[in-house]
Amino acid sequence: MPDAIGSAVVTVVNPATEEVLADVPRQGVEEAGAAVRAAAAAFPAWRDLAPGDRARLLRRFAEKVEEHAEELALVETRNVGKPISDSRGEVGMVADVLHFYAGAVEKHRGASVPVAGGLDVTIPEPMGVVAAIVPWNFPLAITSWKVGPALACGNTVVVKPAELTPLSAVRLAELALEAGIPEGVLQVVVGPGSVVGSALVEHPGVAKVAFTGSTAAGRDVMARASGTIKRVTLELGGKAANIVFADADLERAAAAAPGAAFGNAGQDCCARSRILVARSAYDRFLALLVEATAGMVVGNPEDAATAMGPLVSAAQRASVASFLDPAEAGLEVAYTGTVPTGPGFWYPPTVVAPCDPSLRVSREEIFGPVVVVTPFEDEAEAVALANDTPYGLSGSIWTRDLGRAIRVSRAVKAGVLSVNSNSSVRVSTPFGGMKQSGFGRELGLEAMASFSEVKNVFFSDS
Ligand code: NAD
Repeated sequence: MPDAIGSAVVTVVNPATEEVLADVPRQGVEEAGAAVRAAAAAFPAWRDLAPGDRARLLRRFAEKVEEHAEELALVETRNVGKPISDSRGEVGMVADVLHFYAGAVEKHRGASVPVAGGLDVTIPEPMGVVAAIVPWNFPLAITSWKVGPALACGNTVVVKPAELTPLSAVRLAELALEAGIPEGVLQVVVGPGSVVGSALVEHPGVAKVAFTGSTAAGRDVMARASGTIKRVTLELGGKAANIVFADADLERAAAAAPGAAFGNAGQDCCARSRILVARSAYDRFLALLVEATAGMVVGNPEDAATAMGPLVSAAQRASVASFLDPAEAGLEVAYTGTVPTGPGFWYPPTVVAPCDPSLRVSREEIFGPVVVVTPFEDEAEAVALANDTPYGLSGSIWTRDLGRAIRVSRAVKAGVLSVNSNSSVRVSTPFGGMKQSGFGRELGLEAMASFSEVKNVFFSDS
């Protein structure tokens, strides 16, 4: 259970069994301050390390993650309730992220700028201490997206994981030390967002906050960071549209849709939770979608065949259930899956169809295994529906018409789109939102800009 503020420990629970996994000491404002001081003390030596040596240490860190891959995957699966096959993939991504940014250290260049009267150069410089604030849905992967580029640029990092899921970040920091990354360069402080998170956001010794979480918390982070004009990047919520045109490969689009909506039990900022389907293809697509959803294995996350596990907590389950029970007037459920009985925070995969786009299920981020399916008449209506949300993180477009793919991908206001695919995340490509899904980009070489300042120096030739 998430514990009351004031208790000495954070009690960490397995969402599939409700068994207690660990009691982690709860840290507070004092510990956050001590971590910032230690990170500030470690900063000059880390910044001044020869780039090749910093790269070498990051590579060793990546290798440590690879050596401990199965252990980390099991920690993540037990703490988050996510299928072990997903956790294995995510741990593999953490290693890939660290390898990628190890390779970026020596390629993070400035420029020389043509000017009169001398020589002008730009120098990318580290910012100092970075606070990385992380949610519970992809604890390890999202930690690495911030830690990898931040360390590569020469910053030191204090990670604040979500209270529900701190275990993998704590282990990751131990592996960093084992890899030879010096004491103080990467630390983890476990405690509530309203205490430890806020303390880091307001701390004058923190130069930058890299935040991933809800739009509501992101708004608070941005406001508090303004006190010290802190650099902020925000990766926030989403309500992604999966647009299926009549000319698409309907079988492929329908077969892929459940994974994109119910993966991680729908607790995914990129979840394609609104499927928009051309009216002429609607009945056929819905039948295929329901069939594919019924084929998903929901159950024990430690079983390699499992595609969907439980929600992360009882509170999350209550929040998801509030969208369907009692059902909103006009809401029609086309399919409800089955889940294990007994302990665990289970919620069945649910298809709401046909869904009026004005309903709450279609407008708010549910963060659970609920997908809505809405018909559209033409391309213009598809784009209008896709954009009718304050969010703008991700989305998909299924069509065989290249011109349409180009037009629609230009018209949808979202940071990460895929055509004839639902894949949003790759190590080497930029990831982030438009509108109220946040700003700044993680992953790819773009992330290096988010963790450095550009200094311009002019050398007079006279
Ligand atoms: P959350 O906003 O409740 O918490 C995220 C993190 O911020 C946690 O570590 C929390 O303790 C901390 N926090 C909360 N309030 C804070 C505050 N006022 N100041 C500082 N820190 C604070 O989010 P969550 O419930 O853990 O995660 C779910 C949300 O995260 C969803 O909205 C989801 O869409 C979003 N998310 C976004 C992305 C993305 O990349 N865009 C990725 C994953 C999750």
